Amino acid sequence: MGLRFLNTLSRAVEDFVPLDPQGRRVGMYCCGPTVYDLAHVGNFRTFVSADLVRRWLEFKGYAVQHVMNITDVEDKIIARVRSAQVAITEYTRKYEEEFLADLRTLGCRLPHQMPHATAHLAEMITLIGQLLERGVAYSTPDGSVYFSIQKYRERGHQYGQLVNLNFENLRVGERVRNDEYAKESLADFALWKARVPEDGAVFWPSPWGEGRPGWHIECSAMSMKVLGRSFDLHLGGEDLAFPHHEDEIAQSEGAGLHAPGERFVKYWLHVAHLLVEGKKMAKSLGNFFTLRDLLGKGHTGREIRYLLLTAHYRESFNFTLEGLQGARTALARLDECLAKLREAAAGAAAAAAEPQLIASFTAALDDDFNISAGWAAIFEWVRQKNKALAENQLTPALAAAALAAWEQLDAVLGVGAQAAGEAPAEIVALLEQRQAARKARDFKRSDTLRDEIKARGWIIEDTPKGPKLKPA
Ligand SMILES: [Zn+2]
Repeated sequence: MGLRFLNTLSRAVEDFVPLDPQGRRVGMYCCGPTVYDLAHVGNFRTFVSADLVRRWLEFKGYAVQHVMNITDVEDKIIARVRSAQVAITEYTRKYEEEFLADLRTLGCRLPHQMPHATAHLAEMITLIGQLLERGVAYSTPDGSVYFSIQKYRERGHQYGQLVNLNFENLRVGERVRNDEYAKESLADFALWKARVPEDGAVFWPSPWGEGRPGWHIECSAMSMKVLGRSFDLHLGGEDLAFPHHEDEIAQSEGAGLHAPGERFVKYWLHVAHLLVEGKKMAKSLGNFFTLRDLLGKGHTGREIRYLLLTAHYRESFNFTLEGLQGARTALARLDECLAKLREAAAGAAAAAAEPQLIASFTAALDDDFNISAGWAAIFEWVRQKNKALAENQLTPALAAAALAAWEQLDAVLGVGAQAAGEAPAEIVALLEQRQAARKARDFKRSDTLRDEIKARGWIIEDTPKGPKLKPA
């Protein structure tokens, strides 16, 4: 049996069959960060889950094209840029770099392509033009363009594919300019926002006058540009299902680009939200953690990744500091078993990987990415190996086969312990930030980062081949 998972579009568990007739290539888009601040642990649950989905598809032999956009122009960014009084790119670049460093710290494989909204204005303008031409969008006297939900529905399209909507709430003839709104304020949404004084220097020319794109059109234009008008898999946090993803579908399918029966996206997958210490995250509750808040408390990227990966992606998960302690204990148990297996293998080469562990893990992950069942299989395996080791029942060849199985699974899990003398991912990420600071000739920041690396027990040695990390 192959991979099956819940498609939010059909609300049913479906077999995964890629659009590629050869069944090999998979296009996957995950809504990326809005780079206006440091991301928090709730955001990272989505990205770590997307990394698991991608790695599982790769494990199964698919050639995945993983795309994640960088939203570098949007309402919240403009508000911050205005109060910080800096150029928008200067403001967003910093947070983009921090975000990518955080992804590396969490052991995520970086997406193959990361299109930036500000580099795709032409594609957005073209798409808006197509929506106007088809009569599902209209311009307003101020030079804005809005999507008409009513006209879209009159053309036979369904608005409300991912969520159930009550159209009695639809305020016909009313419009929302803000990118974020609730289901109760269902109204025509902005595709192009005419320049207003508060936008400062953030505006672009368009056939409708100066302005900027809405957030939703960014993802429609960029995903179709990179992956084609129809692609396999679209992921995001469940809070994005409405309005963002619903609007993405409307804008993409409303433009008349698809053949009859062809969809913008075949499978939608939504990651449930995260509670922290039992509550919705809020700065006022003291349970709002960025990744570096947690690293500052002595936790590692590996532990945080493990904890984020313990629960099924569709279950809301309670992330706690106590849970991070538990993650440390669980990983130590795993590391200890692996160390003993290495000793027992005594350098023997594995003829083949032990099949049972891979089979039970595969059964779990193929069942809607059931990672909790996957971990249960792994820890049962750890228990059995420990027993066999204690009873001296593992020949070097058997120990090597067991290790080979673990290594295959760790290509999916990405929590393998680093070898002795090798810096952990968060230190490598700090080093990369220092290199970026040096490149930007920001020597003050580069020195601060060097000191931070040193405070965590590592020194940088600059060599002709580039910088190297050594334990202090
Ligand atoms: Zn998006």
